[in-house]
Amino acid sequence: MTSTLAGSTHSALPAPTDNQGTSLRQRLSVAEPTDQLVEMPHDGRLPVVGAEMTVDAPAAERAIRDLLIALGRDPADEHLVATPRRVAASFIELLTPERFDLTTFANEERYDELVLVRDIPFRPLCQHHLLPFHGVAHVGYVPGDRILGLSKLARIVELFASDLQVQERLTKQVADWLQEHLQPKGVGVVLEADHLCMSLRGVSATGSRTVTSAVHGLLRDNASSRQEFFTLTHAGR
Ligand code: ZN
Repeated sequence: MTSTLAGSTHSALPAPTDNQGTSLRQRLSVAEPTDQLVEMPHDGRLPVVGAEMTVDAPAAERAIRDLLIALGRDPADEHLVATPRRVAASFIELLTPERFDLTTFANEERYDELVLVRDIPFRPLCQHHLLPFHGVAHVGYVPGDRILGLSKLARIVELFASDLQVQERLTKQVADWLQEHLQPKGVGVVLEADHLCMSLRGVSATGSRTVTSAVHGLLRDNASSRQEFFTLTHAGR
């Protein structure tokens, strides 16, 4: 991975390297440099995040209207006449992450235990069926030189979840992003999700949950840290 934080202009996320045929289509914008910017990569500010989508809303509305016709429905029906607009708006909302900046802080207390935020909700669209899968993420890290506002862990999940996704890739993207940009001693991500494409159709596996995980650093290599992480992510379940 070659993306660096050097300088004030860059795209903080690399081009996707998965082979799933889709990607984060958004081009991530660059935050303006500030006076506080000094040394990179850890100047405290990760000028990540936000999206410039190439979305054509009128074309999406036309396509939904055509879909209604193809499904044998009458788009002029009074109950359907506004449906293309609503559906297009829904898809656009689901696929557009909110813009945000990330600020990191010096780890002055030298805190080096696990920081874990549990039950972060997410709801991407399954790239195979365009139906949501929804669930919760548990994101933890063992700080290195920098720490991150806790709410920002949820923002990172939301960033990658506002996309056409598969759960495995989403899990890995969150873990990889934190490992690369925060450079902690360890990172762990667990996702639990209910896939509507499984529970509503096909095998109708209602109530089944899919669990995925990705770990780096200490949480991968140190047995007791790893055990602590997985114990805490499953506590109370
Ligand atoms: Zn699916």
